[in-house]
Amino acid sequence: MKRVRRPRPELEHVSPYDAKDIRADVRLSANENPHNLPGEILDKLADRVRSDIAFNRYPDPMSGRLRTLIAEANGLDPGNILVGNGGDELIMDLVLAWGGPGRTLLDLPPTFSMYGIDARITGTGVIEIPRLADFSVDADALLGAIKEHDPDIIVVSSPNNPTGTMAPETLIIDILKATDAVVLVDEAYFEFSRQTVRPHMERHPNLVILRTFSKAFSLAGLRAGYLLAHEDLISELTKVRQPYSVNKFTQAAAALAFRERVVFEAGIQETLRNRDRLVTGLSTIGDVEVFPSEANFVLFRVLQASAVWRDLLHDHSILVRDFSRTPGLENCLRVTVGSDEEVDRFLLAMDEIMASKRAARYFGMSASTTGRLRKVDE
Ligand code: PMP
Repeated sequence: MKRVRRPRPELEHVSPYDAKDIRADVRLSANENPHNLPGEILDKLADRVRSDIAFNRYPDPMSGRLRTLIAEANGLDPGNILVGNGGDELIMDLVLAWGGPGRTLLDLPPTFSMYGIDARITGTGVIEIPRLADFSVDADALLGAIKEHDPDIIVVSSPNNPTGTMAPETLIIDILKATDAVVLVDEAYFEFSRQTVRPHMERHPNLVILRTFSKAFSLAGLRAGYLLAHEDLISELTKVRQPYSVNKFTQAAAALAFRERVVFEAGIQETLRNRDRLVTGLSTIGDVEVFPSEANFVLFRVLQASAVWRDLLHDHSILVRDFSRTPGLENCLRVTVGSDEEVDRFLLAMDEIMASKRAARYFGMSASTTGRLRKVDE
């Protein structure tokens, strides 16, 4: 046989998540932490690797130690916690357990693309309720869709990636009251927003909260995230999850980082300061519309966004994320809040790029992607 048969027909309409691994000196495209793990945590981790990690043995399937630490910090039992290979894996677990053919996921675009991708991969139907112009959730349309379509999973990213918008707590409560569907509130950026719907878990057994070690805890490279949910819901998820998805090294690093989490407070404060600097700096450049953010990134709209993206990369070696082809995000770029120096470099570069674009417009020319001026009719 010289051929391979076609995969499942659902895949025809799925494009892979494209993380665009492009080289740049300043990487502000993936909402990562600008700093590696603090030295004191690296030292302790190195000690643990030498003394008590048996790499020849399979890891604890449920990440017991880490699970207990997370439970204690959230006033819950270990049975309310599920640790996964990044939040990404946990989103897929939820879709595997509550989605599938004949079932539906309600999505609120523009939002994190993995919800829709996982739904399509698993043959789950997707109901989309687009956000309003200011990226807030269209509450009436959402509650109407719950009544009309009775979805099985509802996902609210809060703060929403890539817009930075919080969903009001009252809206989450209204959703929880309106349905017995699984309501996933994705709090991947919780450490920056400092707002959580955790207090509503006891009253609403259908509430699931997602958090991650990839942002505030500097562990994007190791892949660890966790869910908080009712224990019955967690035990359903254990039926579909990969048993050894969280390796021993990751479990040790995440447990250390979580136990010593006060160490990360300074970095979070730096990010909040730099987020303000980014918002103020971008707003004063002119011709840039900046959206308020409760996370570690800022979304902004600018004319010829893709050209600005290219200029940032080619002339300044700064990588941001181009969302200009995403419906609802026309001419939008998202910049991760970097270190003090990275924010300085980014703002300076934006200032230069926008000044050259203004000059080009004034002289009836268009700025080329390399920043040189070229006649419009060329
Ligand atoms: N949810 C949201 C809203 C995100 O932005 C991300 C990461 N970009 C994730 C979940 C997944 O994070 P991770 O898999 O790194 O834990």
